[in-house]
Amino acid sequence: LGMRPADTGAVVRCLSTGGSVISAQPVQKFGDNPVDVRDTDHYTEEYVPSFVEKWDSLIDWDRRAESEGTFFIDLLRERGVKKVLDVATGTGFHSVRLLEAGFEAVSADGSAEMLAQAFSNGLKHGDHILRVVQADWRWLNRDAHGEYDAIVCLGNSFTHLFSERDRRKALAEFYAMLKHDGILILDQRNYDAILDRGYSSKHVYYYCGEDVAVEPEYVDEGLVRMRYSFPDESVYHLNMFPLRKDYTRRLMEEVGFQRIETYGDFQHTYRAERPDFFIHVAEKE
Ligand code: SAM
Repeated sequence: LGMRPADTGAVVRCLSTGGSVISAQPVQKFGDNPVDVRDTDHYTEEYVPSFVEKWDSLIDWDRRAESEGTFFIDLLRERGVKKVLDVATGTGFHSVRLLEAGFEAVSADGSAEMLAQAFSNGLKHGDHILRVVQADWRWLNRDAHGEYDAIVCLGNSFTHLFSERDRRKALAEFYAMLKHDGILILDQRNYDAILDRGYSSKHVYYYCGEDVAVEPEYVDEGLVRMRYSFPDESVYHLNMFPLRKDYTRRLMEEVGFQRIETYGDFQHTYRAERPDFFIHVAEKE
């Protein structure tokens, strides 16, 4: 869940850690030492239904769409894209936007629970019947078929891969499913800012006004553990690998993408002073 905080006009500000921690119910399992959980396969256990439903019910899709604008849609249209594979469907926000914009979209995700939620969201938001495929990125070509003009991997999803081998494998699978002139659009949180700013001055990102607070609870070069606090005082976490911008770009290049352009916060130019998100557009040809 990597929506930009600016989506709701919310501010980014410092949080003094204090207050009580309420244990999450029906449960995310991180074991005795949560910061030791650095495993690519763990993502399916982190997106428990209560967490996913809560996020979806609080974050207004219309407002999210408004803030994102037509950045991705314009990019895809400019390049004459027709067939898109959304490899990180999640609860379906981007898949539905693609369908509404007239693209032929297929919705993949490794989590069956996410796909179920996405399917019902498709019906709810405009009567769309999503074409869903359960597929882990590392074995994408085994489970999803066809060739695409574009692959989108959005909402800070790539961060769930915890080894370089997995990242290379996933990118290679994306590359293979693209037509000869296809593009990959992949976004990520600006982890450079989080890593370089250091633990002492962590920021909390508020979504939906003040309703949902997201903050890095633990940070090192191999893990950012994000804490999601909801208005009903429930708390959830996601363990993520902090991708440095230049590292992601390098991996894409090494896998074979010819040209990579990086945007900050959906703008064509970004000021060095800290966008919350980067969007990489990688061209195969
Ligand atoms: N794009 C959506 C959005 O922005 O609302 C949802 C993104 S959600 C943060 C990340 C999604 O990536 C989750 O649904 C998760 O199941 C999926 N995911 C994480 N690792 C994966 C993997 N190795 N293979 C397939 N899907 C994966």
